[in-house]
Amino acid sequence: MACKVVVVGSYNQDHVWQVDRFPQPGETRRGGGFRTGPGGKGFNQAIACVRQDVTTAFVGARGHDALGDGAAALAEAEGLTGCWQVREDVPTGTAAILVEASGQNQIIVDLAANERLDPDFLCTQSALFADARVLLAQLENNLDATRTALQLGGEHELIRVLNPAPVHPDLDADLLGLADVLTPNESEFAQLCARFLDTEVATDDVATLDDERLHALCRQLCGGSVVVTLGRHGSFVSHGDARRGDEAACYRVAAETVKAIDTTGAGDAFCGALVAGLADERVTRFADAVRHAGRVAALSTERAGAATAMPRRDEVVARFG
Ligand code: ATP
Repeated sequence: MACKVVVVGSYNQDHVWQVDRFPQPGETRRGGGFRTGPGGKGFNQAIACVRQDVTTAFVGARGHDALGDGAAALAEAEGLTGCWQVREDVPTGTAAILVEASGQNQIIVDLAANERLDPDFLCTQSALFADARVLLAQLENNLDATRTALQLGGEHELIRVLNPAPVHPDLDADLLGLADVLTPNESEFAQLCARFLDTEVATDDVATLDDERLHALCRQLCGGSVVVTLGRHGSFVSHGDARRGDEAACYRVAAETVKAIDTTGAGDAFCGALVAGLADERVTRFADAVRHAGRVAALSTERAGAATAMPRRDEVVARFG
């Protein structure tokens, strides 16, 4: 099926335990509640996108195991066109998450199959790229696969959106330069500034930097547009593609007022909804796509969980118009 958005990314099965406090080394503690569910930045973002009523393909790798079968079934139930590379040599990605009563968490992620997504497999899926308008990728696969995805997106003239999360130790400026839109959160933005601009910015200070300075840093980071998500402070947008000679502009989009109970996955909701807006012919202004993304992300914080907490388009319209 022809899809407007192609998401190339990760699937992890999340295993979440509620604990009163984290165990010390060598200590065994009893959990106070367990749930398991779908996760992985790529998959979460694909679900957020398809729930905005935009046809979406998810391309990723999974193991030949029960968790992978569950992932494929869930993708189908959500209406995603799933294009899975089934690996015989590694299991499906998993994450172990401990959540303390205080709300703090500790996470171990084993990316497994996600790190073995084969660039050649992506090339076999190029028909998907030919029909799409937007490509979305993150950094939970190996960098060769992500680079190939962005290159294929470029060859097919898609809008290429890169959510640089988590910042990969071997990330290079060439890969960043393949994106038309970057969507770091505050911590990723600070890491990118340190790595590529030799500029130290404290994560907690990003939202309070003045617009001119933020805009200048964004322009230096990437030839394209940058949307920095600022949690409850909304987002900062540096828009315009220097490579096409666009005039650059910057503005902020305030966060919606909601009763946030769990902000896990808010960034994924934002990215998925942003690409849905960019792929939708009815959304003509970049700022409108960002505003819609903020609304979807805000609503996602009113529910626990990540992929399963992604709001649907009709809920967003009912709440915000
Ligand atoms: P996570 O890693 O938890 O998925 P993130 O750090 O990648 O999230 P954030 O910058 O925290 O992403 O949030 C993404 C977007 O979600 C923000 O730009 C904002 O629009 C929305 N958002 C986050 N927290 C809130 C909140 N408390 N109230 C309203 N909107 C919020």
